[in-house]
Amino acid sequence: MKYIDEYRSPDLVRGLLDAVAILAAGIGRDVSLMEICGTHTHAVGRYGLRRLLPGTLRLVSGPGCPVCVTSIGDVDRALHLAGLPGVTFATFGDMLRVPGTGGENLARLRAAGKDVRVIASPADAVRFAEENPARQVVLLGIGFETTAPTVAAAVLRARERGVGNLSVFSAHKTVPQAIRALIADRSLNIDGFLCPGHVSVITGVEAYRMIPQAGRAAAITGFEPADIAEGVLLLLRQIADGRFEVAIQYARGVKAQGNARAREVMAEVFEPGDAEWRGLGVIPGSGLRIRREFEAFDALRRFTLPEIRSAEFRGCRCGDVLRGVMSPDQCGLFGEACTPASPLGPCMVSGEGTCAAYYKYERGL
Ligand code: SF4
Repeated sequence: MKYIDEYRSPDLVRGLLDAVAILAAGIGRDVSLMEICGTHTHAVGRYGLRRLLPGTLRLVSGPGCPVCVTSIGDVDRALHLAGLPGVTFATFGDMLRVPGTGGENLARLRAAGKDVRVIASPADAVRFAEENPARQVVLLGIGFETTAPTVAAAVLRARERGVGNLSVFSAHKTVPQAIRALIADRSLNIDGFLCPGHVSVITGVEAYRMIPQAGRAAAITGFEPADIAEGVLLLLRQIADGRFEVAIQYARGVKAQGNARAREVMAEVFEPGDAEWRGLGVIPGSGLRIRREFEAFDALRRFTLPEIRSAEFRGCRCGDVLRGVMSPDQCGLFGEACTPASPLGPCMVSGEGTCAAYYKYERGL
């Protein structure tokens, strides 16, 4: 297939789902699969795929939205940095409305006169720092293996150009360690994972080896309806045969070895560190902290942050939604107090959030 329409062909998707139904019936027990990635969650909702799967097959949404998994503590730290005098805070737009403890957010800080800028690329922050040497530019680094190399490249570029007024608050996270935590969570009992296509462009298959080793199925999957239906089919084949591997459904985007150059750039600037995930808690080695050699670019070393007492908004169940233990409509605030127009939690704020996807596509179904 060469064109996007072909991946949306109703006949093709129907054929794949028929095969899914036959395999699911043959397995003869309930099966739980998780789509890790927020883009998958939105595609599943947009094309109504969840409803088209057989009743014995549960498709659960996982912690694949970078904004949503950013812990409340990191949101509070970002807000503190953005509020410092002389600081220009550079962020991707999705973070603007994510509330910290007490409901403050970056958009309100900006409205109150703080210099909060939405960037399209980390390179924008380097350029701004170069052009405004009297300002301290703090770049908020969130996201997974997909965005971390671009932030690392920005740090390397800043060093090369002698930009001394740029630093990064690295709240990046890496996906494999989160999957490990999900596998270990007995309350979830996930049989297979639709692994994120975009992240896998960088990591390749190696990052997911622990999934088959744990006796679970894995398929690196694209984002069109035919991709997802085929990804589910590949998972069910593994489960039916009891032979587990990391299948690549998204072969048009992902090479088995991933992107070694991007991983090198990332590893030059970052090293693994513990990270706190919203909903999943602290996962050892799942963060990317700036290496000592680049400490001049580390916002957490450049600025002294006070002890901040962070607390989740009462009633928001984003943590449970991100762990896949409940769906958004089981949150008492969903669709009433919490809507995309007045979101209370990051899963509704973010364009990739599970609550936003459910509200848009699956509400009341
Ligand atoms: S509906 Fe709103 S309050 Fe409830 S879990 Fe989702 S984002 Fe949080």
